[in-house]
Amino acid sequence: MSTPMLQQVAALKREAGDAILFTRMGDFYELHGEDAVKAAPVMEIALTVRGRGTEYETPMCGVPHFALESYLPKLLAAGYSAAIAEPTAKPEEVKGLLPRALTRIITPGTWLDDDARWLAAVHRIGAAWGIALVQLASGQLRVIPGEGEAFLASTLERLAPQELILAEGAPDAFDLEAARVRLPAWRFEPERARNQVMAFFGWSHLEGVGLDPHPAATGALGALLDQLETIQRGRPAHIQGVSLELGAAGPLLDATSARHLEVFANTLDGSRQGSLLELMDLCRCRMGSRLLKAWLDQPLRDRAALERRWTQVGWFTEDRHRDPVQKLIAGVPDLDRILGRVAMGLATPPELAQLREGLARVQKLPRLMVEEGWFGETADLGIWPEGTPLCGELEAELRRCLAEAPPLELEKGGTILDGVDPELDAVRRLARDAKQVMLELEEEERAASGISSLKIKYNRVFGYYFEITKSNLASAPAHFIRKQTLANAERFTTEKLMAFEQRLLSAESDLLRLEEAQYRRLLARVLEDRAGLASLARAVAFVDVLCALGERARVSGWTRPALSEERELVLAGARHPMLEARMGRECIPNDLSLPPGRAMAVVTGPNMGGKSTFLRTAALLVVLAQTGSYVPAELMRLSLVDRIFTRIGASDFLAKGQSTFMVEMTETARILNQVTPSSLVILDEIGRGTSTRDGLALAEAIALHLRDLKGGEPRTLFATHYFELTKLADDPRIQNLHVEVQEWEEHLLFLHRISPGPADRSYGIQVARLAGLPRPVIAAAQRILADTPEPAIEAPRRGRKARAEAAQPLLPMFDPEPDPLRAELEALDLDGMSPRDVVAWVAARQKER
Ligand code: ADP
Repeated sequence: MSTPMLQQVAALKREAGDAILFTRMGDFYELHGEDAVKAAPVMEIALTVRGRGTEYETPMCGVPHFALESYLPKLLAAGYSAAIAEPTAKPEEVKGLLPRALTRIITPGTWLDDDARWLAAVHRIGAAWGIALVQLASGQLRVIPGEGEAFLASTLERLAPQELILAEGAPDAFDLEAARVRLPAWRFEPERARNQVMAFFGWSHLEGVGLDPHPAATGALGALLDQLETIQRGRPAHIQGVSLELGAAGPLLDATSARHLEVFANTLDGSRQGSLLELMDLCRCRMGSRLLKAWLDQPLRDRAALERRWTQVGWFTEDRHRDPVQKLIAGVPDLDRILGRVAMGLATPPELAQLREGLARVQKLPRLMVEEGWFGETADLGIWPEGTPLCGELEAELRRCLAEAPPLELEKGGTILDGVDPELDAVRRLARDAKQVMLELEEEERAASGISSLKIKYNRVFGYYFEITKSNLASAPAHFIRKQTLANAERFTTEKLMAFEQRLLSAESDLLRLEEAQYRRLLARVLEDRAGLASLARAVAFVDVLCALGERARVSGWTRPALSEERELVLAGARHPMLEARMGRECIPNDLSLPPGRAMAVVTGPNMGGKSTFLRTAALLVVLAQTGSYVPAELMRLSLVDRIFTRIGASDFLAKGQSTFMVEMTETARILNQVTPSSLVILDEIGRGTSTRDGLALAEAIALHLRDLKGGEPRTLFATHYFELTKLADDPRIQNLHVEVQEWEEHLLFLHRISPGPADRSYGIQVARLAGLPRPVIAAAQRILADTPEPAIEAPRRGRKARAEAAQPLLPMFDPEPDPLRAELEALDLDGMSPRDVVAWVAARQKER
């Protein structure tokens, strides 16, 4: 490589390392060499050649500068990073090649335009670990300490960062899509990290953050900040502090359960559509949507906080309280995001204008509450945190300086209003009124000299000049400077004329320079208010979410849950929130009562009867209630749940090549190892993945384990189409529930209603008919059934009476004779086993058979 330009690119590329280099050349960002070859197909743009036929021939491609941000996501999604190089001088300031430098590096975890992106760092010291996370779009910085490898893996899975920083040599068995970055271990050194953190924020100690007892987390934070400074070329100013999350108990829902329950995404295509989040997100601004997601992710486990939030939501169930607030918030832009873009010097003039209009709206928020006469009340409710800054002065300054509708690019001119900077005004006037200024100058000199014919003229070689004929030469004023002598005239200039000329010629670049200076000043002014803007953004998001929850409660007719002292879960008229949204009145409400001493229920009935929906309803209502929302039920009473465990379906894992049963048992083992008496356990069709005998045995053993849990049995819902399991309810602590079914001729009518007592029988064949199995197959199945002797495992019984008559025990598991497998199973020390151990144990038993 040897043209100066290519040499410059090569030097930048060395600095950019693995990142794809985008070099700004005029109106394009260009990519050269290998970078171009790699990136062109990913960004779906044409690959060409620079210097074709010369010795400097090199592949290249390019994207228009204004479209950069629409091409980057594709590149990041493919796991690449991008390094952006910009000119550091103006073309008119240098001759020849413009100097260029890297201004920022964008990695998959630091893409600014997506507020679901996290860059995470992990560090371990012994069993302790720490995760540090940053979201550049909103400036959030979080630190989560914890202990134990399994908890680390599940926490990371839940956080789902796009990019993960690990120490060289640190184990990485995480099931994450995230791009990996390895940094030398010394960057995670806690002592060094402490200094790094203090330097980043300009703090003199770390006590305020409470990081001291968490060296692993401190190490992770240090490495994260290090990396952030490297890729952002400095400290992003909108990151203002660290929040330490001591969630030692872990989230209410783990990633698997959140997926099963479709809290954030549906299980069909993984999009938001049909999820609980989508149903609840009646937020009017992005900040609100973001906060709602965080709330659903970390429901409350504190009685007082929960009661308070329900009260706040209750306030906004009233249309007259909510409507005006929502109308205002609807126009508020994402303050966090704009602040982030300002901090990184990326904010465009229209974004500042958005900020100004957003602030203007927010000014009215507390005023509106005063006018409505309920500010006093809301202050009591804590809806608008007292002392929240409104940044009104910033708004006024932006209004004074920034054009009403500024252009997207500063270069277009007209971003800064008249009257802000006298110099800018003068230059503008000069450019706009050059003619007028010239006439004034002419008039001035005409008066001074008394030469009535005195004129300013212009030619391309000499520029502007006064011309005086020989006859008038004697009247030429003393301050006239001779420029050129002609046969019958002399040409002069003056200090003023030279200045006029100079200014006219440089007016254009001056305009840009002065506007840019003012614009930079405005950006700096915005950053001065960053703390205020951030707390304002929080307050707006908070009110927005309360309104959204209030609106959902109002529109859908939901009720406020109640906390009880006793460990219980009681629902009356409960509906599955997303099903209700889809089906309206056709969604059948159901009741559930899990009081102390009868906290476990076995739900039986045919497939498609509504068991699974019933179980999910209970879990989703707990999530909603503990988020602070009202719930789709006539009544809900609960004591706080510490964790919700679900074991539902496994189809989403099949693609990964694990057997259904393996997954099922691994998840079950996790549940049994972590469950506490305050948990809610949802087990749907446990044991389905293996033979009926084994499945029944395992299901029963699991139920008994939960029943006998130290400290009390957790609230548990068991759904099964094995009606043999109804026998569990011989124990008074376990109740039977069943889904109601009506038979009509040969058909089944699912009522989706849950009633006390066991199901009569299994309806496998009828369900098969419903599913569209050919008639001859159904008929054959019925013949086979009829011929099968009574103790057969899945023989249908003719109603309850017949069942009672069948005194014969159904299964070996209920035999008086000891079953060796059962004995072995009961002897298992599940607390001492890892999920892997359980699976290995089960696999070994299967092999024996
Ligand atoms: P099961 O778990 O017993 O196989 P599901 O819970 O999957 O049954 O329910 C099967 C279908 O029945 C669901 O897809 C849903 O459309 C419908 N359904 C379930 N519960 C209700 C209900 N309470 N109201 C209306 N329809 C329901």
